[in-house]
Parts: sequence; structure tokens; C-alpha cells
Amino acid sequence: MTIKSVGIVGAGTMGNGIAQTAAVAGLKVVMIDVADAELAKGVATLTASLERLVAKATLDAAARDEALSRIETSTEYQRLADVDLVIEAATENVELKQRILKQIEAVARPDAVIATNTSSISITALAATLADPSRFIGMHFFNPVPLMPLVEIIRGLQTSDAVAEAIYALTQRFDKSPIGVRNSPGFVVNRILVPMINEAFFVLAEGVASAEEIDAGMKLGANHPIGPLALADLIGLDVCLSVTEVLVKDLGDPRYRPCPLLRELVSAGRLGRKTNRGVYHYG
Ligand code: NAD
Repeated sequence: MTIKSVGIVGAGTMGNGIAQTAAVAGLKVVMIDVADAELAKGVATLTASLERLVAKATLDAAARDEALSRIETSTEYQRLADVDLVIEAATENVELKQRILKQIEAVARPDAVIATNTSSISITALAATLADPSRFIGMHFFNPVPLMPLVEIIRGLQTSDAVAEAIYALTQRFDKSPIGVRNSPGFVVNRILVPMINEAFFVLAEGVASAEEIDAGMKLGANHPIGPLALADLIGLDVCLSVTEVLVKDLGDPRYRPCPLLRELVSAGRLGRKTNRGVYHYG
């Protein structure tokens, strides 16, 4: 099973990064979102990202043009009818993802693989919404997708060996390093990372230190490349909150409870870099 074309549902932070990565690797890409404005924003973001790679001489101008020529966009799910793989990268919400997966299955070829980039939702539970759950798998990329080397590959209970092998092979063609992870809330990285970010919000809310000092502390004292609050702004505060809610619900342990300040900022629409304001202000 060799994957040559991919449909991506969701043109946001992750969707446009996955689209860029797939197009640079030589795949034909169709990116789907609910509105033309979201698609235009996604294409603008990935175009700017490709430009930065050209400026750094990581990519040449011809490869950039070829990658861009491989990407199409649409608001019509019907456009997913011919692709070998569909990666769902829409908003982190169980009911929404279940609805989207049904929409994908209704139009995709019966032999197409269906993957999700969910940060925390059970792959086995999402697979169960499909008539053929054996073709479903978790393919968890990291932000920013073109730069981050890791992909967590999560098999649901129902995922077939052939599908898992095809996704491992594709991850390597993307020049990324896969790790195999058992289906479990938050998988590996977010199970460890997001509680740390949540704790940083508690420390901020308790007035232990300012946001800048908390981030400086973790950079200079723990050798992290970015502080936890700046990282939360990069990930999206809404995404961080959703992951914490899944951890507390599915692991059944109150120590994962979301910090009220995180919830408050999300309620105010301060979602981080994508809304120009989260913990910090952006241009
Ligand atoms: P985002 O808010 O930046 O983008 C989500 C996109 O999905 C939006 O453009 C929205 O319009 C679109 N969308 C919503 N409903 C849709 C529908 N019915 N059909 C098509 N498109 C629809 O979110 P994001 O940060 O890109 O997250 C996407 C997924 O990736 C989530 O499951 C998230 O948990 C996961 N993820 C996020 C990160 C991160 O750092 N942000 C990292 C790994 C995984």
C-alpha cells in the first residue's frame, strides 16, 4: 500500500503544516475546511513557511513552486473521493471529529486509509464510528509540523497491520521519526507535557512569578528551548484545555484538572498566537 495522495481535513495550525510537509515530500494534497477564508489563511501560512525555508536555503525555489502546485483546497468533502489517505486535523472535539469521520467515510474510496491528528482522543473510540475501523489510525504530528521530527503512531484496537505499515512508511517519507504508542489518553508526549503546561498556569495564577519569569525559569533552569506559557500560546490554549479535559476524564484522576486561569483565557477568546493574544500579546 503506497500512499501518493492525501486529503487533509482542517486548514488550521496543524492541517496547513501537514499539507506543506506532504506536498514537499511529493504527494498530491487536497486541503478541506469549512470556509474559503480558513483555506486562504492556511495557504498563506504554509506559503510563508515555505518562503522561510527558501530564505534559509533549506529548500530551493523550484521545490517550493512544485510543492505549492501540488496543493489544492476545497470546502467540499466530495474532493476526498480519490485520495489514498485522509488525515483529519480539525478542531479537538469528540462529537465534531465523529461527525467528520462519518463524512469522510461516506466519500472516500473503500481502500483509503483514514487517520486522525487528535492530541488526546481515544483512537479506538474514534475508529468505532467507522463502518470499517480497521483502516483507521492515529498519526499525531507536532507543532510546527514542517520543523518537528516526531510523529506518534497510535493503533486502535481494530487497526490492521497493513494500515500501520503504510503509515510508518509514509512518516519516513516525510523525513520524520515515528514512535509507536499504545492507545492511551494523551499518548506519550501530551500525557507528560500538558500537565506541565497546566501547572505553569497554576503557578502564574497563584502569583508565584510573572509569565516571563516562569518561562525564563524553565528555559534557563531546565534547558527547555521554550517556556511552558509561550509553548501554550504556540499550541493554542483551547487545544491545551481540551487535552487536560480528556486527561482528567479518561484517566479519572483529579490531579489533571485544568487550571481555572487557562479556562478563563479560553473563554475570553485569548487562544494564543492564532488569535494574536494568549498569555502574551503578538503583533
Ligand atoms: P486550529 O483551531 O488551528 O484549526 C482547526 C481547523 O479545523 C480550523 O481551520 C477549522 O475551521 C477547521 N474545522 C472545524 N470544523 C471543521 C469541519 N467540519 N470540516 C473541516 N474543517 C473543520 O486547530 P489545530 O491546532 O490545527 O488542531 C487540529 C487538530 O490537531 C486537533 O485535533 C488538535 O488536538 C491536534 N493537534 C494540535 C497540535 C497543536 O500544537 N496545535 C499539535 C498536535 C495535534
